[in-house]
Amino acid sequence: MFSADYHIHTSFSIDGEAPMEEMLLSAIDKGMNEIAFTDHVDYDPKYYPEPDYESYIPVFNKLKDKYKDKINIVFGVEIGLENQWADKINAITAKYPFDFIIGSSHCVLTKDLYFDRNEYFEKKTKEEAYSIYFEELYKNIQSCNDFNIYGHIDFVSRYGIYKDNSIKYKDYSDLIDKCLISLISKGKGIEINTSGFRYGINSTYPSLEILKRYRELGGEIITAGSDSHRPKDVADHIEHAYCMMKEAGFKYVSVFRNRKPEFIKL
Ligand SMILES: [Zn+2]
Ligand SMILES: [Zn+2]
Repeated sequence: MFSADYHIHTSFSIDGEAPMEEMLLSAIDKGMNEIAFTDHVDYDPKYYPEPDYESYIPVFNKLKDKYKDKINIVFGVEIGLENQWADKINAITAKYPFDFIIGSSHCVLTKDLYFDRNEYFEKKTKEEAYSIYFEELYKNIQSCNDFNIYGHIDFVSRYGIYKDNSIKYKDYSDLIDKCLISLISKGKGIEINTSGFRYGINSTYPSLEILKRYRELGGEIITAGSDSHRPKDVADHIEHAYCMMKEAGFKYVSVFRNRKPEFIKL
């Protein structure tokens, strides 16, 4: 059965722990047919320097060729989407030949949900913090066009400071629907990000409940990604994510060529 991990970081990302080749070898070892390297580009200059693509691209091309009989690798990127950086984001996506672009909300109203966790969550109820997150996510979908899927769409729950950080669809249904409908109408997809199993929530981002809602609203573009930053996490729970896709009613998983989805039967 076809299997692809569409969210992998290498040491070209500031938080990546292993060179591209080590991540690639782990993916081959775990039986992946295809992977996407999606190193970070985020324009909050305090935390995320842009990868050095002049060095990156030759390494990528060499590895793609070297392992072409074993695995297909896709040139991707994970861009932190923020209204205020829309021009810079458009400039970088125009400059480099990415095949696949994950847009993610790592920062909300200039606060990084991980680095500025206390500043963002303190003095907000869970409902306020999560509602603002989805409102901003909706604005990003409207203002930033150049991405293929939204990454870990309920990411705000990864770093919440509440007793129960989980997101119940019913509590934010209007906001979540607004985001999903907007993504679908613009031809964008979502991912099943399996990193939740390593962040103690024992689930994916998003949960099956939100995934089912996306499908119910007509969403068809779906990928699965480990969001791995070290070799042992590559392909982690990808099989589980594929089972979730089937359970939610998807017939196809998406792969990307030149930023266009192609559909492979599940
Ligand atoms: Zn991310
Ligand atoms: Zn990531």
